Amino acid sequence: MKGKNLEQYSNVTGFEKIAFGELIDRWGEVYGNRIAIKDNSREITYYELMKNSRKLVKKLRESGVKENSIVVMQCTNKIYFVEILFALFRMGTVPVMVLPAYREQEIVKIIKKTQADAYIAPIEYAGYKYENMRQEIKRKFPDMVTLMIDEHFTNQEEMIGDECVTTRVKYDDVAILLLSGGTTGEPKLIPRTHADYIYNAKMAAIRSCLGEESVYLASLSIAHNMPLACPGILGTLYAGGTAVLSYYSSPDEIMELIEGERVTITGLVPTLAQLCMELLEIEDFDISSLKVIITGGARLEPKLAEDIMRNFQCILQNQFGTAEGLVMSTSLGDPDEWIIKTQGKPISKADKIKIIDENGQEVAKGKSGELIVRGVYTIESYYNEPKADIKFTEDGYYKTGDRALITEEGNICVLGRIQEQINRAGEKIQPSEIEEGLLELEEIQQVVVVAIADHLLGQKSCAFVQFKEGKKLDKNEICNKLQQKGIVHYKIPDQIEFIEEWPKTKIGKIDINRLREKVTIK
Ligand code: AMP
Repeated sequence: MKGKNLEQYSNVTGFEKIAFGELIDRWGEVYGNRIAIKDNSREITYYELMKNSRKLVKKLRESGVKENSIVVMQCTNKIYFVEILFALFRMGTVPVMVLPAYREQEIVKIIKKTQADAYIAPIEYAGYKYENMRQEIKRKFPDMVTLMIDEHFTNQEEMIGDECVTTRVKYDDVAILLLSGGTTGEPKLIPRTHADYIYNAKMAAIRSCLGEESVYLASLSIAHNMPLACPGILGTLYAGGTAVLSYYSSPDEIMELIEGERVTITGLVPTLAQLCMELLEIEDFDISSLKVIITGGARLEPKLAEDIMRNFQCILQNQFGTAEGLVMSTSLGDPDEWIIKTQGKPISKADKIKIIDENGQEVAKGKSGELIVRGVYTIESYYNEPKADIKFTEDGYYKTGDRALITEEGNICVLGRIQEQINRAGEKIQPSEIEEGLLELEEIQQVVVVAIADHLLGQKSCAFVQFKEGKKLDKNEICNKLQQKGIVHYKIPDQIEFIEEWPKTKIGKIDINRLREKVTIK
């Protein structure tokens, strides 16, 4: 699958026309017996990762996964998923990275949109067994190859035989499809090419000063862009360090891993950073190895930034990342004031940033407007989404939808979303996604979902619900019904308020501000 034209970036320092297969082989040769990745049951060297991902190509082919096709991959933080990911990269087969928390409704939408012909998921994760969902998917898409896996899938004894001869995958082919936070209901698919994603991981690794001695903890699901490539496991492997995978992303597991694995750097969303900090206050952990904490995915409040620096006694990197590409962050030597108040500078000097007003004109320095960007690793269109053209300017800039300004020192300060979106501990939810689910319940007449501030999650969802004449449900019944529909847990409203009459604006539209006041005054 052909990705965006990268030829124009041939001369950018650090950019290489290389695909993952070749890079993984290079890592295997250069870093050999060093430990590449550790999970909660095993560890693997760079050489083994190279070999296993080659052998897996054969196994995946025999299991029915085709070269140059699309696979929906619901992965957990296990080494075998990284091995499979690398085997797919070698095959030119494009994985769509999906969180383990997703349920049938979301998976079916993604399969339809991508026309994927395979689905790979764990057998079980966090008490949930994926078999029922697999059967449902198979019923809806009978030709689909469905693989439920655990460590046996990459078992070495079963993989004796010829090593693969891979198809010729090019540097500008699409390597991976990431899911966007989205601004219009369903998530959009972000096609990242081999060379742009490698460049992304490499530049983020340089910004975080990763090296062979680095131990990076992937605290969040590796289906997210940050723990995958900002710098994530890919940036860590680029630098020859060791990536440790946290399986449950829980504060106690994260703190134990930092202590036990002598972790030097990790990436957290602000909410998780706060929870880890609270745990640190009540329990003793030796976190003396930790040099850097990156926070990203959502706005880091200045007070929390200061608390993190004080309590963890390490350098904080304030990062702004998008799965669409652009990553910015403060640098390790930046003054505290920059770290607390800004998201620093783009990781690549080739990133062209502009702040524009609603007419598309650049605003004066220091004034706020929409942040737009063009560069090596930022997409110029979504996959199979012609209607999303409004997210790009005519000259190929990606419109982030974030309000930002550039400071005197050239740092970027992100102020918030231009349009309504709920950023629930880094998980992006469009109010319309929750509204759609609620409106499918036959008892409900009308619904409006808004974001409200929450001291722990940053934001949470609040649904205002109006019932049809003579119908009624209580809050638990609503949540249970949504759960039964197979909606991912974080899209179930955190708060539900019943409404008999909607407050209206002068022109007769539902007055969202007055609705929000109702819950914030309480
Ligand atoms: P995603 O597509 O999930 O990678 O989300 C990207 C979006 O997350 C950005 O467009 C921002 O709205 C938000 N975001 C990420 N990092 C930050 C940050 N440090 N401060 C504020 N918003 C952020």
